[in-house]
Amino acid sequence: MDTILVVNAGSSSVKFQVFAAQSSGELTRKIKGQIDGIGTRPRLRGSDADGAQSADREFRPEDVADVPAALHAAAAWLRDELRINPTAIGHRVVHGGPDFDRPVLVTAEVLARLERYVPLAPLHQPHNLAPIRSILARSPDLPQVACFDTAFHRGHSAIVDHYAIPERFYTEGVRRYGFHGLSYEYIATRLPQVAPEIASARVIVAHLGSGASMCALAGGRSVESSMGFTALDGIPMGTRPGQIDPGVLLYLIEQKGMSAAAVADLLYRECGLKGLSGISNDVRELQASKDPRAQFALDHFCYRVALHAGMLASALGGLDAFVFTAGIGENSADVRARVAARLEWLGAELDAAANAAHAMLISRQGSRLALYVVPTDEELMIARHTSALLRPTR
Ligand code: ADP
Repeated sequence: MDTILVVNAGSSSVKFQVFAAQSSGELTRKIKGQIDGIGTRPRLRGSDADGAQSADREFRPEDVADVPAALHAAAAWLRDELRINPTAIGHRVVHGGPDFDRPVLVTAEVLARLERYVPLAPLHQPHNLAPIRSILARSPDLPQVACFDTAFHRGHSAIVDHYAIPERFYTEGVRRYGFHGLSYEYIATRLPQVAPEIASARVIVAHLGSGASMCALAGGRSVESSMGFTALDGIPMGTRPGQIDPGVLLYLIEQKGMSAAAVADLLYRECGLKGLSGISNDVRELQASKDPRAQFALDHFCYRVALHAGMLASALGGLDAFVFTAGIGENSADVRARVAARLEWLGAELDAAANAAHAMLISRQGSRLALYVVPTDEELMIARHTSALLRPTR
């Protein structure tokens, strides 16, 4: 039996999960954990698959100073206290660039190619790659698999993945890649089981979490995404603005004298629901607030989701179903109701009771546009890919 460690490494936190892989390929989740506050107030929290807490401890900042050290601390906890020794590691890697259209077993050569994509995702890619590099140096025989957020969208046509800019920029990698691909791929594999009637139809999946995007699926394949070159484009997010006129950025730089770093900080950390409401990036807080700015931010968010639905429906040449997923999509009946109301022209008829109960099917019988809530599971998708890449070598 294989034990697969799934790693999602960010700048100040590492999330990890452990799966047991039977020889049949069946995967069972065993552990969920996270180390946050890396380099400042490192704290490890772990639980079993049912959420029962099994660890909560703090470290000195110098002991867990960076992402590889955090993963090392997590691995030590798994090994020394839970007797778990991973036989393979699956990593979430944000950017697979123009080349990688599927997960890949990491070698020194693959790692060198992935490092070339750091300029395409400077805030994420270095943190994704740092633990891979450190494990490759320390345990070169431990299989590591890189799973990309971009890979599921690599089949997009040239019309879809071009910007209207000189071709030389496309050649050097300035393309509309699209992200959240592991989430969309998981949903595409779930639809034949939970909603077979729409699995091969024209479907929009809205991944509404703290990062948010939308994907057009035709027959289970991605044909268009609301995101592009970076994870900034598309619909508004917790702290990112989504689509914005590039002229606004020129204004900030030329007229307001902002540096590139200051603009990046604004775009990644101060915009979206947080910037618009002035209150919070968290939909739960906005829903609970009596402040009209909170309601305005939620309305704007839902308007932009529906507006992008129009674009994606055009890419699909019509629309049969709309699927909500991720933290907001799975939990906020209010956001779903507001979006559904704006999709009535496409045939959406919400079943209010089913929506309030967070049912899987939330449209009324006979609704021309079917509405679904399907929980996503990016970690399971990574574990599946990791397990599948290992099996042929056994
Ligand atoms: P990520 O994985 O990108 O961090 P998630 O998919 O977990 O994000 O989504 C996080 C967001 O989901 C939170 O910021 C919050 O706005 C929203 N959310 C979570 N639970 C609820 C809830 N019960 N009601 C409304 N929104 C929720």
